[in-house]
Amino acid sequence: MNKAIFLDRDGTINVEKNYLYKIEDFEFLPGVVEALKKLQGAGYLLIIITNQSGIGRGYYTEKDFKKLNDWMVSTLKEQGVIITDVYFCPHLPDAKLNKYRKDCECRKPKLGLFFQAVKDHDLDLNQCYAIGDKMRDCSICEDTECKGFLIEKNEKADAIEKVKAGFFSHVEYATDLVNAVNRIVTD
Ligand SMILES: [Mg+2]
Ligand SMILES: [Zn+2]
Repeated sequence: MNKAIFLDRDGTINVEKNYLYKIEDFEFLPGVVEALKKLQGAGYLLIIITNQSGIGRGYYTEKDFKKLNDWMVSTLKEQGVIITDVYFCPHLPDAKLNKYRKDCECRKPKLGLFFQAVKDHDLDLNQCYAIGDKMRDCSICEDTECKGFLIEKNEKADAIEKVKAGFFSHVEYATDLVNAVNRIVTD
C-alpha cells in the first residue's frame, strides 16, 4: 500500500483568488515547491483534490480548468515535483449549468474524491495526511485514521480557534503548507 498527502489547491498550493482559472493569475505560495519535494522525498504520493464550483457556476469551463491544471503540473514537474493525480469536483446543487447541477458525492466535505484516490492509488489512510485552508479539506480525517492540517487564515476565525484548541482529534493547525510539511517530515 502507498501513503499520500491529499492537498487542497487554492489557498494551499497557490494564493487564493476567487474562481481562479487563468495561468497569469496563478501564484505559488512561498516555499511550496521545496515543501512538496520534501514530502516526495519522504515517500508520499502527492494528490490534489479541489472543489471547482466555478465550472458549474459557468465562470470558466472544464477545459479552462484542465489548461491551468496541466500548466501547474508541468511547472511543478520541471522543478522535480511529481503530482500523482488531480481530482476535481465541478458540481454544485444549484449550478447555473444543467450538466453540473447535482448534489454530488465528490464536492468536499463529501468524501467521494478522497475514496476514489484511495482506490486508484492503493492508499493506506493510516499513513496519509490531508492539508487545506478550509476544514472541508480535512473531512476525510473525521471518520478515518487519516490525519490533517488546517493551514493559512482563510477559514472562519472560530473554526481556526477550535482546531488550535485541539477540538478535532486528527486535525491540527499549521501556519502554512511549509509548516505542516515540516511537522509531517521531521528531520
Ligand atoms: Mg482552498
Ligand atoms: Zn462533485
